[in-house]
Amino acid sequence: MLRTHTCGELRIDNVGEEVVLTGWVQRLRDKGGMLWIDLRDRYGITQLTFEDGVTPAYLFEAARGLGREYVIRVVGKVIERYSKNDKIPTGDIEIHASKIEVLNAAKLPPFMIEDETDGGDDLRMKYRYLDLRRTPVRRNLELRHQMMRAVRAYLDEHYFIEVETPVLIKSTPEGARDFVVPSRMNPGEFYALPQSPQTFKQLLMVSGFDKYYQIVKCFRDEDLRADRQPEFTQIDCELSFVTQEDILNTFEGLIRHLFLKVKGVHIANLPRMTYADAMKYYGSDKPDTRFDMRFVELNPLVKNKGFKVFDDAELVVGINAKGAASYTRKQLDELTDFVKRPQIGATGLVYARVQEDGTVKSSVDKFYTPEDLQAWAKAFNAEPGDLILVLAGGRDKTRKALNELRLEMGERLGLRDKNVFSPLWVVDFPLLEWDEDSNRYHAMHHPFTSPKPEDLELIDDRPGDIRANAYDMVINGVEVGGGSIRIHDRRLQEQMFRLLGFSNDEAKAQFGFLMDAFEYGAPPHGGIAFGFDRLCSLFGGSDSIRDYIAFPKNNSGRDVMIDAPSPIANAQLDELHIKMKNLPA
Ligand code: ASP
Repeated sequence: MLRTHTCGELRIDNVGEEVVLTGWVQRLRDKGGMLWIDLRDRYGITQLTFEDGVTPAYLFEAARGLGREYVIRVVGKVIERYSKNDKIPTGDIEIHASKIEVLNAAKLPPFMIEDETDGGDDLRMKYRYLDLRRTPVRRNLELRHQMMRAVRAYLDEHYFIEVETPVLIKSTPEGARDFVVPSRMNPGEFYALPQSPQTFKQLLMVSGFDKYYQIVKCFRDEDLRADRQPEFTQIDCELSFVTQEDILNTFEGLIRHLFLKVKGVHIANLPRMTYADAMKYYGSDKPDTRFDMRFVELNPLVKNKGFKVFDDAELVVGINAKGAASYTRKQLDELTDFVKRPQIGATGLVYARVQEDGTVKSSVDKFYTPEDLQAWAKAFNAEPGDLILVLAGGRDKTRKALNELRLEMGERLGLRDKNVFSPLWVVDFPLLEWDEDSNRYHAMHHPFTSPKPEDLELIDDRPGDIRANAYDMVINGVEVGGGSIRIHDRRLQEQMFRLLGFSNDEAKAQFGFLMDAFEYGAPPHGGIAFGFDRLCSLFGGSDSIRDYIAFPKNNSGRDVMIDAPSPIANAQLDELHIKMKNLPA
């Protein structure tokens, strides 16, 4: 090794030792007669000290000639520090250097390599290799590594076997657009990159592998947000001869193991909520249950009192923002503007304050008597000091809007603490979801998900009411994982494809291999996949999965460091039998 110790290693016990350190010059403080250098590597920072009169003059000058981010090798003696620094583990000692060797000089970095940097997002992404030198960014990847180790340890202990599946495949319908790769050897034909290894893991069950997992890259060509990347990582799992209950228990175990091993946090048994309840009480299939503020439906209390907005509404529903009765006119106007934003789409906001004397003052006092309003307060369990917020309109749209308002109020009232974790299972998802645009049903999870046997009789008349054996794990309002018990019977799978509008020929062409496999002894099976990047960001307390990916893409799906995607040479296009046309300017 070029070094005897790392920059995070030396302590008071090492005083007197002759050591060799290597690393980057983090900072250089030159006080004329004294000069200090913070030497940094992955493990920490060690201070080097140079003193006029003590350090030989040539060495002092050499030190003075160093710049930020130079890579150096230093020989020196460990000395007890006069003024100790209790903020870093090596803070009791410093090195009196006897030799400095510049291993590589460095240009001035385009932003500060410090915990708090002056570099904007774009700049940091262009020089991501420098950004990764920063301690908080490195810590994120260390957390990711810990998570991966803990996942593997748990699944290993539960007899899962990690099997790799191919990346050049045929489309897997997970609801997004595929990335495709042209085949040179098969002109005019394309591979798709997997949106998930779904069909392969099911085939592995047919092969008898029984318990499979893979920490695997998946690819979806979707519009991007803070918690989405075109390529992302899943903890992908599948098991045979299990019921939904077995799967929930196994993976609840995984999550509790992760919290304990990585964060030292004990998580109690996960509560379960049906999809129907999640929508009714939280307006979302991923409710943030760190705080209560459940929806209360008011239809029977508010109709036929002459208030047209409520009379015409399919649903009148509200929340109780506890302790927010003191909200000013201005704050209430802000909330009204918030719910009226086009993304949220409510037409207005009705409020009612429960005052100190217990009377209720609302924005619709004209239509409702004090007794009416007392009945509202009772429905919300509202006490003096509480603020009731009510929306009205079409059922689904209003629930969705109230979900946003609930989250906003949760945020404003400080109820969404990043250090509190509230996981749960959402179960009994609908099998199908009606799509207005294409005027047909889509699989809510994916087409391999099995209906609840007791709901199968609805298949001809009310397919939209069929519930699936499908489940999501939700933590703090984030869907961290989801899965289902699968169909393992060819006829049912064919029926499902028909329901989804596939002709027999289309189904055969796309998924014939899977349905064929089901005819050779397919075991009952089911599985789940967790979004690994999301789990990491949740554990790390960040909203952005990008912070937990070494080389992420930006919002336009670009890697600005390597400049991808990029055009390819005509010769390469010719080889692939591809002709460019009508490129947007
Ligand atoms: N393949 C599914 C997904 O990526 C997960 C599963 O059903 O196991 O969401």
